[in-house]
Amino acid sequence: MTRESRYDILFEPVKIGPVVARNRFYQVPHCNGMGWRDPSALAAMRGMKAEGGWAVVCTEMTEIHPTADVTPYVELRLWNDQDIPMHARIAEKIHEHNSLAGVELCHSGYTTSNLWSREIPVAPTGMPTSSSYQSPVQARGMDKQDIKDLRRAHRAAALRARAAGYDLVYVYAGHGLGIFQQFLSRATNMRNDEYGGSLENRARLLREVIEDTKEAVGDRCAVPVRIAMNEFLGANGLEPAEVEDAIGLMAELPDLWDLSLSSWEKDSQTSRFSEEGFQEPYIKGVKKLTSKPVVGVGRYTSPDTMVRVIRQGIMDMIGAARPSIADPFLPKKIEEGRLDDIRECIGCNICVTGDFTMSPSRCTQNPAMGEEWRRGWHPERIRPAVSTKSILVVGAGPAGLEAARALGQRGHKVTLADARNEAGGRVARECRLPGLAAWSRVRDWRLLQIAKLPNVELFLESEMNPETLSEFGADHIIMATGSTWRRDGTARHHMKAIPVDAAADTLTPDDILDGKRPKGKNVVIYDDDHYYMGGIIAELLCKENHTVTLVTPSPLVSIFTKASLEQHAIQARLLGLDVRIEANSAVQSIAAGRVTLDCVFTGQIRESEAGSVVLITARNAADQLFNDCAGKMPNLTRIGDCYSPGTIAAAVHSGRKLAEDFGAPPQDFLDLPYRREVTGLS
Ligand code: ADP
Ligand code: SF4
Repeated sequence: MTRESRYDILFEPVKIGPVVARNRFYQVPHCNGMGWRDPSALAAMRGMKAEGGWAVVCTEMTEIHPTADVTPYVELRLWNDQDIPMHARIAEKIHEHNSLAGVELCHSGYTTSNLWSREIPVAPTGMPTSSSYQSPVQARGMDKQDIKDLRRAHRAAALRARAAGYDLVYVYAGHGLGIFQQFLSRATNMRNDEYGGSLENRARLLREVIEDTKEAVGDRCAVPVRIAMNEFLGANGLEPAEVEDAIGLMAELPDLWDLSLSSWEKDSQTSRFSEEGFQEPYIKGVKKLTSKPVVGVGRYTSPDTMVRVIRQGIMDMIGAARPSIADPFLPKKIEEGRLDDIRECIGCNICVTGDFTMSPSRCTQNPAMGEEWRRGWHPERIRPAVSTKSILVVGAGPAGLEAARALGQRGHKVTLADARNEAGGRVARECRLPGLAAWSRVRDWRLLQIAKLPNVELFLESEMNPETLSEFGADHIIMATGSTWRRDGTARHHMKAIPVDAAADTLTPDDILDGKRPKGKNVVIYDDDHYYMGGIIAELLCKENHTVTLVTPSPLVSIFTKASLEQHAIQARLLGLDVRIEANSAVQSIAAGRVTLDCVFTGQIRESEAGSVVLITARNAADQLFNDCAGKMPNLTRIGDCYSPGTIAAAVHSGRKLAEDFGAPPQDFLDLPYRREVTGLS
């Protein structure tokens, strides 16, 4: 296949200072929960992006000095020469595929508490640190010597980055995390010397460090600046007009401008809260200020949109973090004219939850993310089967679809059967909830791939039972029959069923997804699940004119979504819809028209009116069919939610794992399931 000529513009080379990118695809720096702890895994992941055609592949934030140690988060480090070999491996993996390797040097100022190094944090102005745990730590306001030392540390790290082989060495003033942004912003810089006050003064350190870096490594390396276009604090912080003025002051100094929003929550908005290209209003004014290349992001997955933003002069290179995670081969697929093979990011931020939980990032769409090195998975390829089998997969949800697709790719003869009249399982149903339309891409990409495989057949409206299964006579049966939400209040707070009066109107998310609605006007949503479902059903029912109270044992609504950067936006949306929030409370019992609540701290009981109650609690594996067949049929395996209810990403991963392991000799439980890297002793 060849690409259509209208996409040629995306494959033009771009000069970035002393280096040349082979096309306009630019993987901007992104965190991944691997960092210095898992360097070989990290290097393989970055190398995969280069193999997939990204002309520039960058690291995540890289600490330059122990005065900005981001513990507990696991990012990269360039504190001294000991760190160089790890970076050399990353750069080498990227170079293997003729891409440019970039490193995002970072000093995080007041946003780190230095929990590991125990150095006193420093900031433009003394203030409490802003780490996630609200650690009782304050950053010290920097004096002139501190500023000189910071410049020396940045220069030293830049030289190490060049020694490691990087082609681009960043000056980072983004996401509130880079200290140069903290100097630039009146929100965090209250100095009254030549580094504070006027914009020129606040921009002074950024300018000096760009000059230092260019002087140190600019002969061979490009020096991009990543800058926050808006801090969303109104006139109290950076706003686009002032950032444009700052860019104007040093327009030609760096070799590239990489634009983002601050904080990270605003930059990596999920599809529930933003569309593709949502950052364009902030990016579009910058190109007229500088002759240097401009990179912007906005979850771009559509090649036509990419062409438009280049042609309209909004940016020179298509920046991407999440689209490059969901599909490391996105550029290659456009280049080869295989547009329908693009695995589009769904904008769910499961990848971000990895970084926030200090675990290797995972991806809902790309189960190979983070598994490139330790399990040897490839996002596009899977080894062919040695001997092909006939396999029946029951259930076409995310787990069944991925298993069928990947088994089919290996060459097996696969039959996929689902009881419903549409494929996709929970994804097909949940994508109808407010803001989740893009989640249908999990189903759509897999259906399209399956349609291309002559050895995989899909049958809908085909409910399987033990008789039909045994009649079918497959060599192997995979159960991917999903899960159902519990109706008895059992979850984290109550580990046993709570009293529920038979006369009470109670519903679960399954009922809501099936189109059932509460009978009462006043609805209590009891959320002891803590991910998106409680908040989203509250939003749905509110928009359908119910009066909604959300009860949760947590202090915050949808508290796990702090890790997907959505919690703030979810709670703000619910408050805007007048949802009453009863935090730190659990539903103790349900009667007709009312519920009894207890305070999780004091145990104090109170009653609340509730025409209907929606229980968002635990799920049960839908494993009845599996249990009915177990022991009676050989070669039976269960995957996804049917094995243990989890995220959509976990179900997709489970389908892929089944396909990868299929036919391999069984592994002993005591054998480690994958490679791991152990720190060498000094
Ligand atoms: P997962 O997330 O593990 O993929 P889902 O709940 O999304 O699970 O999907 C499970 C799918 O299995 C649903 O589409 C459901 O219709 C289907 N299913 C459940 N039981 C049967 C059965 N007995 N026969 C055929 N399909 C079934
Ligand atoms: Fe996109 Fe979700 Fe994958 Fe992140 S986890 S890259 S948001 S699909």
